[in-house]
This record gives sequence, C-alpha cells and structure tokens, in this order.
Amino acid sequence: MGNLFYYYDRYNPGELPRVVVEPPGPKSREVLNKDHELLMQSFVRWYPLVVKSAYGVVLEDFDGNSFIDLNSGIAVMNVGHSHPRVVKAVEEQVRKLIHYSLTDFYYEEVVEYSSELSEVLPIRGRKKFFFGNSGAEAVEAAMKICKGSAEGRRPYIIAFIGAFHGRTHGAMSLTASKPAQRRGFQPLLPGIIHVPYPYPYRCPFHVDAEECGEAVIGFMEEWIFRRMVDPAEVAAVFIEPIQGEGGYVTPPDDFLLRLRKLTSENGIKLVADEVQSGFGRSGKWFAVEHWGVEPDLVTMAKAVASGIPLGVVGGREDIMRLPPGSHASTFGGNPVALKAGTEVIRIIREEKLLSNVEKVGRYVMERAREWMDRYEMVGDVRGKGLMIGIELVRDRRTKEYARRELEAFLTKCFKRGIAVIGAGFSAIRISPPLVISQELMERSMDVMEEVLKEVVREHSSA
Ligand code: PLP
Repeated sequence: MGNLFYYYDRYNPGELPRVVVEPPGPKSREVLNKDHELLMQSFVRWYPLVVKSAYGVVLEDFDGNSFIDLNSGIAVMNVGHSHPRVVKAVEEQVRKLIHYSLTDFYYEEVVEYSSELSEVLPIRGRKKFFFGNSGAEAVEAAMKICKGSAEGRRPYIIAFIGAFHGRTHGAMSLTASKPAQRRGFQPLLPGIIHVPYPYPYRCPFHVDAEECGEAVIGFMEEWIFRRMVDPAEVAAVFIEPIQGEGGYVTPPDDFLLRLRKLTSENGIKLVADEVQSGFGRSGKWFAVEHWGVEPDLVTMAKAVASGIPLGVVGGREDIMRLPPGSHASTFGGNPVALKAGTEVIRIIREEKLLSNVEKVGRYVMERAREWMDRYEMVGDVRGKGLMIGIELVRDRRTKEYARRELEAFLTKCFKRGIAVIGAGFSAIRISPPLVISQELMERSMDVMEEVLKEVVREHSSA
C-alpha cells in the first residue's frame, strides 16, 4: 500500500500554488515561440502553460512556477503524475521488453493486463479485449467490431449531438460537438445518424430536465426508427455516459436505462465510450455503473495507462469476433503501456481512490452549488465524482453562453497557479487527478472563487 497523497513528500500543500513569475515567464516563452514556429497549430490551447515537469497534482513550468493541476492533462493522469508505482513498473518493463508486435506474436503482459481489466469492466460473463494506442483508435475498432459482428446487415450507427469520440475519419464521423472538428473534411463516413443528447440544462426538446431523457428516446423511436431507418439496420449506438468535450454533461437518471432497453429490444449494440469518464473519474470504475447499465462494448483510453499511449475495447466475448486479418495495430497493446495499466488498476483499488473521488467530488459540487446561489453567472453545476462541469451564462433566463467570461476566468486562474480548462461552450471543466487531497481542492476552489468574483465584477460593469 502506498501513500495516497504521495506528492506531499515533495510539496508542502500550504505553499501551493506558487507563482514567482507571471506566466508565461521568459523561459516558458522560448519553448512557446519554438512550438509556434515548428508545429502545425491545429489545437486549441486555452492559455500558454508550458509544462516542464509534473508530480502528483502539481505542474511546474520553466520559470519556477508551481500550478495545481485540475486538468490531469486531459483526464489522463488519474493516479497522479509520475506515480512512483507506475514509474517503477515502467522502468522495469523497459529493461525487459519494450515491443514485440501483437499483430504477429504473443507475450504475457497482455494476458496479465486483460485478466486484471476483466475484473473491473462493467460487463458480466465472458469478455475479450482489443488494444490500440488512443481513444480514437478504440472507437474505430469498436465501429468495425459492431458492423463486422452484424456481417454487413446493419450499416447504420447512431451517435449523439454534442459527442466527442475522436478525430480520425471514422471517429470524427461520430463526433459532433463543434463544427470546427468537421469543417472541410467532408465527406465523412456514411450511415451515421446523430440524435440530440439529453442535456438537462438545455434540453433540445424544451422539456423539464428530468423529462429530457424520455423525450430523446421518444424521438429516436418515433422520428428515427419509424420514419428514417429500420432499427434492424442499426449496428450500434455510441454514447458517452457523461459527455466530456461537449460540456461535462450528465444525462437524466433514467436515460441510459431507457437507451439500454431500446437498443436491446432491437438487437443494437450499446457502446459506452468511457475514454474520458472511465477509470475512476466519476467515482465508479466506469460511469455507466452509476445507472446500473451494462453496455455491450466499452471503449477506453486516456487514464488507462497513466500517460503511456493505450486504447482499449472491452466487450462481450460473442461480439468481439472480427476474423483474422481484419483488424490490428503494430503498436497496439505495447507491453510498457500494459504494465503501467496493470499498476493503474491496482493503485485505484488498493489506495481506495474511488472513496477519495467521492469525498472530494462531493465537496466540489457543494461548493460550486453555493456559487450558483451567490453569482448569477453560474447557471448550472453538474457531474459525478471528479468529472464536474460548472456552466457560466450571461443571463440566467436566456442562458446565453458566457464564452468571453469563461476565457477570462481560465486565464486569470492560470496566472494565479490553477490550471483548469473549459468544456462545451462555456463550462468550467473540473477534472483533477483523483489523488487530489481535500486541502488542495479547497485551495483551488478558493482561488477560483476569487477569480469568479473578479470576472463577475468586470463583466457586469463592461
Ligand atoms: N472519446 C472520448 C469520450 C474522448 O473524450 C476522447 C478524447 O478526448 C476520445 C474519444 C478520443 O481520444 P484520443 O484523443 O486519445 O484519440
């Protein structure tokens, strides 16, 4: 058993965050300028944070500043940066075996990891796994598995508006959270149908939050399946149980169960994309567990191997049956990543991370709900565990997105040593490493509240 707050050996929590030079300082700027000169700038960077090193929940830049990390870069470092057990496992594995392609050969690390993962995957009975290197690759594989298992009889896939499933062509065809993600890349994959996601605060059907899930299911039955596509032609429904990039949106409590019923009745596979919501982030191993739903397939990446690239599809054995030669990846299931992954599972279990997530997550929700009472700009607070969205609006009644206000908020937080980003159009995305202590979370919330007050003041007088 390790120490949950292992980073306290190196940092005194009372001294965090620590800003000695306004970021980005001169040394960070050097890296930043070279980055702009050398890299295709197809990313959206929220503010100029240049990370030199990271440990636990602390990021250090090149100018001596220490930030509290509320991003986990992004939702990846769930067990904390450079967790000593992960570092040890990786070091040992690098000396033993770095690579020997699973496409053609066998090794033990993948079997060890698969049996460890089977114990936590929220699917009963026999299951199997496929390994790639990223979330998008896991989604690509899952699409092929669902179509392949239907042997060509089900050419359609349903996804949700607001979803983010990745940026490769197939995954991008499912993604629909911002037009920039798709602009200029048409034609995308044919046969993808998008339906509204039950976003309780902004229900596309203009019904009350708790009725939004039922309205979405009704729309699928009445308008999609009755008029557009026979459900017998649909291979799968892909869903993020909690939408990530789309705004950290939690669906109404009855929604996933209703969706499971609808898909089961029509022989449609339900794929839970847990790339962001998985691995303890929501306070359970997987977010679907909050609603007692059993998907057919689960896609995973991000936090699975604590920053070493690994994408995974886990699913029912009778579905995971693509024929030889039909799918593989040279690097997929790299032994170093798998060793890190095995350690991640053991750390979450042995160090009881889920109870820390529950405790600290509850504190964040309570505190953010107080903000709602105090600041008109805080329109909605939602989430599970340490996957929390705090949506800022210009006007409580019109719910106009407070985009500029969000940008100002994030930049000011950055300048004060809190690294936090947005999700959707105007939500603050709270997604710290799951090993964050209550004390550091309180300090972060204190700084964020000060910043929020400032933003409210500046923008109401603007
Ligand atoms: N699926 C979800 C739910 C995600 O949040 C992401 C990335 O943010 C992806 C898939 C794509 O993962 P990757 O960026 O590793 O390809």
